[in-house]
Order: sequence, then structure tokens, then C-alpha cells
Amino acid sequence: MSLPSIYCVVTADYEIFLGRNFLSHDEVLFRPAWRMMEVCEARSVPVTFFADVCSVWAHRAHDELAGFVDSFESQLKAAVERGHDVQLHLHPHWLNSTYLDNQWRVSTEKMYLYELGYHQGENTAPFIINAGVKYLEDLLHPTKSDYRCHAFRAAGLALQPEEDKLIAALLAAGINVDSSIAKDIRLKMDTVNIDYTGMPGTANWYVDPDGGLRQPRDSGLLEVPIATFQSGLTSRIGFLIRRALSVSMRRGASISRSEKQTRLANLISLLRYNLRYIGTNPWFLLSCDTKGVNLNMLLRGVDNYIDGHSESDIICLSMINHPKMMFRQQFDLLENLIDSMRQKYQDRISFVTFGDVLSRVKRKAG
Ligand SMILES: [Zn+2]
Repeated sequence: MSLPSIYCVVTADYEIFLGRNFLSHDEVLFRPAWRMMEVCEARSVPVTFFADVCSVWAHRAHDELAGFVDSFESQLKAAVERGHDVQLHLHPHWLNSTYLDNQWRVSTEKMYLYELGYHQGENTAPFIINAGVKYLEDLLHPTKSDYRCHAFRAAGLALQPEEDKLIAALLAAGINVDSSIAKDIRLKMDTVNIDYTGMPGTANWYVDPDGGLRQPRDSGLLEVPIATFQSGLTSRIGFLIRRALSVSMRRGASISRSEKQTRLANLISLLRYNLRYIGTNPWFLLSCDTKGVNLNMLLRGVDNYIDGHSESDIICLSMINHPKMMFRQQFDLLENLIDSMRQKYQDRISFVTFGDVLSRVKRKAG
């Protein structure tokens, strides 16, 4: 039996911080996104930007924020022109946030699509998904006539709860790939609650509203998971030390739903979050922007992930990054990771877009 071919989609969640941004939008998002394109272009690797379109709609409502809208839209057009891809990412909290005295007051009541409801009407989840697809297609068609918005990544990777309704709404909007699942990841925080344990053993599978996320179907939404891996205790200790040393590398802060977001409460939750790396054996995402990971961890991780899926005909996986969290060190890591993966897997590995993935999977099935 021949070894499966590997298709890796290098993705970037294209968004500013959901809480406070300490620096200008240029420094938080646009400059690192250009850098990411340069790094990947030097290796002929396309980047897939998951653009948070709710953020651009929120900024569009304020004349003084027109600069953000211009930069956002012109950068996405340039990305597509340069051979990269742009797909749909939705952070609905923007829809109810207000801008006053040069500051965003973020609404934390409706952060996820299910909180908007799946009924008919304006500003419900299906309405926003359709509007997102239309927005990206209208924006990018003039640059690339065959551009299609057909892939989705959920805010906070949370397809749950009410995943059946979400899958139905995505399919109805013409989306046919999802890249939100990270196998074995289970997260319960005040802003996100996901359980991706017990997923199918195959590298990729179709989900539909009747089968939910865990039951592979014959057709529906093709799942291209974000690769995940575990790491030994020694490597996790090194990770935590490097992580502690990199605390100052921050351009902004995320949001919390807790009533009192005090410094102490933040510190305690940060400590608890990090201590689980010692007390338990958590799963890591294949990402160059997790502070504390290094090339060794990622390479061993991706090897284990690929070995774990060697029964599959082909392995389509995605790597998740966030330009807002990437500094020189993270770009170096991305370069080295791509080079090392190519060195190890040679002709077996290709770095592709979701459109390429869809045509590969179809060719395989047909
Ligand atoms: Zn996001």
C-alpha cells in the first residue's frame, strides 16, 4: 500500500483583538499579514485568510474608522491577486458592539452564531452567514473572476452547540468545507465551550445536519481539521518556560465574559490555564503562534498526526495561525516548519488552498 498524499492548508485567522488592541490596526493586523504573505510566497505556499467580516461591517458604520475598512479590503484583494485565498470567519460580537469616545465597547452577549438564533429574519445566524459569503464574493470577484467563498472557520473554533443547525445554514449558503474541528481538543472557558473528542479516525470526512460532527456521511460539509498533537512532559516543561519568557509579546487582549475582569482574576485564570500543561497531557494545535512551541514540538506533532492517519487515502490538514500574534520568532518558525515538512515528506506533501483540497477529494472519490 502506498503512503497517503498530504495536503496542508496554511491558514491565518484575519482579525484584530476581540478585546483591547494595544497598537494601531496596522501594527496589530496589516503589517503581520503582509509579512506572512511574503514568508509564504518565498516558498510558493498559498495562505488562506479566514477574514472576520463582522469586524469590517462594524467599522464601516463609523466614518472615522474608514481607514480600517480600506486597509482590510485592499489587503484581501491584494492577497487574492498574489495567489492567496480568503474565506469566511465570523465573530458576531461585533454586530452588537458600540464605538464611543474612540473606543469599542464590546458586547459579550452574542459571541457565537447560535446566540443569534437560526430562525428566519435579519441578523440571525443564517442571515449573517449569507451576508458574509456575499460580502467576500462581491469584494473579490473584480480581482479574481472565479473566486468563491466556500470554506468556513467558526469563532473560537466553536461549531458547537447546535452544530446541526450551523451545518445546515452553512450548506444552504454554499459553503462546502469547514476547518474548525481540532481533534481531541476540549475547552471549557467562560467564552468558549467545545468538545472535539471522539471524532472519526479518518483524516477527513463529510458532516451533515443529520449526522452531526462525529458521524461520517457520504456528502455534506467536508471537514479539514486543524492538526493536533500531544507532547511529552519534558517537552511541555520547556514549552512552559519559553511561554513564560514570551509574555511581553502581545499586541492586544482577548475578551472575557466574567462580570469583573480584574487583573487578579485574569492572572488566576492564566495560571490555571497554563498549569494544565503539567497536570494533564493536553492536545496542541498545529500553529506557529502558540507562545512557547518550537520547531521540534511542531515537527514531531505533525509526524504523529500524519502517522495516526496513515490508513486514510489522502490526508488534508490545516495549520492555524493568527497574524496578530506573530512576531519575528513566529515567522521564523513558520518558515522552518514549511521547509522541514517539505524535507521530510518530499513529493508526498503539497501546500494548497481549500479549493485544491476539494478537487483532490472529488478526484479521489470519482
Ligand atoms: Zn477568530
